[in-house]
Amino acid sequence: MNDYESVIFSASEETAETLREACGVFGVSNGDTFDVARLTYFGLYALQHRGQESCGIAVNNDGDISGHKGMGLVSEVFTEKVLDRLEGKMAIGHTRYSTTGANSLENAQPLIVNYKAGRLALAHNGNLVNASKIRHDLEDQGAIFQTATDSEVIANLISRYGLKYDNLIEVLKRTMDVIQGSYALVIMTPRRLIGIRDPWGLRPLCIGKLQNSFILASETCALDAVGASFLRDVAPGEIVIIEDGQLKSVQTHLNKPHNLCIFEHIYFARPDSFIDGASIYRSRLEAGRLLAIEHPVEADLVVGVPDSGLTAAIGYSRQSGIPYGDALIKNRYVGRTFIQPHQKMREKSVNIKLNALRSEIEGKRIVLIDDSIVRGTTTKKIVQMLKNAGAKEVHMRISSPPVKHPCFFGIDIASRDLLIAAHHSVEEIRDIIGADSLGYLSTEHLLQTPVGAPENSFCRACFTGQYPMAVPDEGDKFALDNKC
Ligand code: SF4
Repeated sequence: MNDYESVIFSASEETAETLREACGVFGVSNGDTFDVARLTYFGLYALQHRGQESCGIAVNNDGDISGHKGMGLVSEVFTEKVLDRLEGKMAIGHTRYSTTGANSLENAQPLIVNYKAGRLALAHNGNLVNASKIRHDLEDQGAIFQTATDSEVIANLISRYGLKYDNLIEVLKRTMDVIQGSYALVIMTPRRLIGIRDPWGLRPLCIGKLQNSFILASETCALDAVGASFLRDVAPGEIVIIEDGQLKSVQTHLNKPHNLCIFEHIYFARPDSFIDGASIYRSRLEAGRLLAIEHPVEADLVVGVPDSGLTAAIGYSRQSGIPYGDALIKNRYVGRTFIQPHQKMREKSVNIKLNALRSEIEGKRIVLIDDSIVRGTTTKKIVQMLKNAGAKEVHMRISSPPVKHPCFFGIDIASRDLLIAAHHSVEEIRDIIGADSLGYLSTEHLLQTPVGAPENSFCRACFTGQYPMAVPDEGDKFALDNKC
């Protein structure tokens, strides 16, 4: 007899349920004789979780900037041969996630553009809320765009202001005055490596040091991967310029309230990263701990949905005293190019992506933890799978509040129409997913989870609808479809 109950996810179902990644950026300055292309490759490897659709590396060989980019994972796009060709003393890299329609090679990054002062390469994590308007204005003035990304809008503005101002800092400040939204940028010019974080600090960016070279990266896990030590985070609104081994800082837009995306802590960032002084792992543990206080239940086993719910499940277990255990086994080799099973195979419940471990589940009252429910379709299947495997009760606990609003800052959260919590009460959602009880972490508790950084404040607009700045209508397809 089969000891496993299984569930199959079609790509569309999983896409709909899962909050998708942002992008990852990385850069290394020219302080040493490293093989900068390989160093960037390893940095991007550590940032692969932030985007798996395309990636690229640009190198700077004595002022000559060139690069390679492709569709797919870092390990697929960069072979030994390709890396051997990428010679230089400075480099930047990018891993990209995009929504359907914007997923093409021309939109892959880094972007390499020519402007008055020479060539520059640019890698962007984030999404501009006014990109559409700026783009139309620039097109009215004769600008030609080669990609559908808002990152090219930034490159175009830099080029325009470069015609007017000789001073690069002035050019960047003027550009920041115009663009609105989220951006963590790594830019490489013939002589400089530059990092910029948007004035709200929506997306993370940190600085590391490796011998005489500076490293810029979306997350500290990429610094660890290349053996660099963490120096500090780039501050919201800060421009850091690295030239001739020196780091210069210019602080702009001091008056904006800090609004780091709280979903970096809930889901996006790797658990071994620190952002703005707070450990991601400890945030997730704390979310589980607070969830156990807020929504206790009598049960026999705490289980996390792999991988998004595992750390919070440990926190819930520690606080509640209910044992933590394995009950869901994930097939880690189901990748991007997974061929969908046909209907007949689905009906036979072939084990493909996630299996329930009947021997651990049968007759037990299970607390099932996940980081969020977006549409509810996948959650419903997992609850059903546990019940089919003999669970006596399934109590669903979510380590964040109900997601009721879309994100305009680079995270692919479904439009409001598709968000289950936008149209249903908690009790209705419980009924739809078939759980015996359902509890969400409150916003108040969520904001306490980034332990060790009490001065930080966060964007939580997808829960509250209170965006840190004016956002376009949901119907603005450019803003919604070309995020990174
Ligand atoms: S709306 Fe939500 S996902 Fe988007 S930046 Fe704010 S907290 Fe993050």
